[in-house]
Amino acid sequence: MYEFDYSRPASVDEAARALGDAEAKLVAGGMTLIPTLKLRLAKPSQLIDLAAVPGLTGISEDANAVTIGAMTRHGDVGRSDVVKRAIPALAAMAGHIGDPAVRNRGTIGGSIANNDPAADYPAAVVALNATVRTNKREITADSFFTGLFETALGAGEIITAVRFPKVAQANYQKFKNPASRYAIVGVFVARTPAGVRVAVTGAGPCVFRVAAMETALAANFTADAIKDIQIPQDGLNSDIHASAEYRAHLVNVMARRAVQACA
Ligand SMILES: Cc1cc2nc3c(=O)[nH]c(=O)nc-3n(C[C@H](O)[C@H](O)[C@H](O)COP(=O)(O)OP(=O)(O)OC[C@H]3O[C@@H](n4cnc5c(N)ncnc54)[C@H](O)[C@@H]3O)c2cc1C
Repeated sequence: MYEFDYSRPASVDEAARALGDAEAKLVAGGMTLIPTLKLRLAKPSQLIDLAAVPGLTGISEDANAVTIGAMTRHGDVGRSDVVKRAIPALAAMAGHIGDPAVRNRGTIGGSIANNDPAADYPAAVVALNATVRTNKREITADSFFTGLFETALGAGEIITAVRFPKVAQANYQKFKNPASRYAIVGVFVARTPAGVRVAVTGAGPCVFRVAAMETALAANFTADAIKDIQIPQDGLNSDIHASAEYRAHLVNVMARRAVQACA
């Protein structure tokens, strides 16, 4: 049976206090959490709904970056004129998550907090070298995603926004599961002021970067420069959808397509 208290706090501080109960869970879009409850894979004592917390939704822009509130839905990011102009690859990625129902409920904060190995946002956050803001601190992309469904978030920590620096060029290519649209393999390539970043989702237990491709692309930003770079199959996901060998192959194919699309 379901047995939990439900609350709608009116501020981040109030939500954080409610999270003091170790068995309490935040709910954002509910697109992952509600199915998890229905499958009896989680049994929270409290559901803390972030829907009424002011200041967590919306997209803003300054000269160097676009900041997206944690409760902003995928559909709103995909349709945003600001994101489409400033970081078009990010808008395109968000606009192709799941189906319309998922895009109209799922949020960026829920997606990255959940850190599903096949989710799209982790690749964007890492490739674009974003910063995750919480009620307690700022966390760099490279240290945020720590493992399968694991992040650097601590107890009582709530994501409030994600800041994406503007980049010269970026593109995301996804080989999707035709039923769910989750990534069997997705590769996000970005040319940032600090160099090229290549982030892979879907292939392993957690998003990862491909250093050999980043070095090759920094010297020569063409698909040809990475055509011979294969990632090792060891540790990659292997399931009914794709073997580790096939996923390793797809990483190269998707990375080359992303570089070509940047051009
Ligand atoms: C059919 C289907 C298809 C999908 N396809 C895709 C796809 O193609 N690509 C993709 O990337 N995703 C896909 N998703 C996932 C979806 O995009 C959601 O982003 C994801 O389910 C979580 O977001 P949510 O807002 O619904 O979070 P919820 O389900 O409400 O929460 C998820 C987790 O995050 C925690 N959380 C939520 N908000 C915060 C916060 N601000 N701070 C800290 N913790 C928080 C919750 O406590 C919970 O543990 C799919 C989902 C479904 C159901």
